[in-house]
Amino acid sequence: MRGKRAKQYKKLMQQYGLSYGFREPYQVLVDSGILRDADKFKMDLVGGLERTLQGQVKPMITQCSMRHLYAASSEPGVSYLIDKAKTYERRRCGHRPEEYPEPLSEQDCLASVVDPKNNKTNKNCYVVASQEIDVRKHMRGVMGVPLVYIARSVMIMEPMADATSDNREREERTKFRAGLKRGSGSLKRKREDDPDEGGEGKTDGVQGDSTQKKKKKSGKGPKEPNPLAVKKSKKSKSVESGESKKAEDVESSNPDPSGTIESGGKRKRRRKPKSSTEGAAADGSEAVNEE
Ligand SMILES: [Zn+2]
Repeated sequence: MRGKRAKQYKKLMQQYGLSYGFREPYQVLVDSGILRDADKFKMDLVGGLERTLQGQVKPMITQCSMRHLYAASSEPGVSYLIDKAKTYERRRCGHRPEEYPEPLSEQDCLASVVDPKNNKTNKNCYVVASQEIDVRKHMRGVMGVPLVYIARSVMIMEPMADATSDNREREERTKFRAGLKRGSGSLKRKREDDPDEGGEGKTDGVQGDSTQKKKKKSGKGPKEPNPLAVKKSKKSKSVESGESKKAEDVESSNPDPSGTIESGGKRKRRRKPKSSTEGAAADGSEAVNEE
């Protein structure tokens, strides 16, 4: 496989891994059609899958797909395919001949295997390798199903379906937000510390700068230089900053006590690191009682 596509597929599988927990060996559900086409194009199906997914694969075939092959066993070459398919892991779809005298269509069978509860999730992390456009169309509606097919003797992996990538982004955003909420206490603390650090002359994050500005505005500092002006003239700053920074430091230590007034919840959190050194399990509630 050529470099660009290989890179693209590698990235895709990494995304599936990160967002949906795909791991090697990848479980690949192959249908009877891709078995046939691989054979038609003289392709090594499993080898092709491993090159495309760039990892170990575990080929699987459902009972219904096997039955479709058996039904066509009189066609030339199919018995060879049956023997080949027998070496793959049989995925018990539960569509037994007693209940289903005719095998399910591969679309219905694969749909029930990949998403048994019909809640649009691919809980078992299956890759679907199918030559049927309708199968792939259906699977695009299920979250996180890598889809593979053969087009003119080239194995193709479809780009992430819109539903899947939308969901991925949504989940990343919620994770991000959850992270912010969880870490809000420490974030606050950090922000309060930042101006001190920034005051040392490090022209770092925008965050630190903006908080500094806010503090200056709210504080009395008419004496202090315009922060924007300070930023521009870095050289003169070093001369000036000696004194003004010290004054700032005194000031920026002031907002700390004002921060504790904010609210009860935050107060607890801020107390934690000091008081919970002995009983880490004991929560902020105790720390408050001590007061
Ligand atoms: Zn089935």
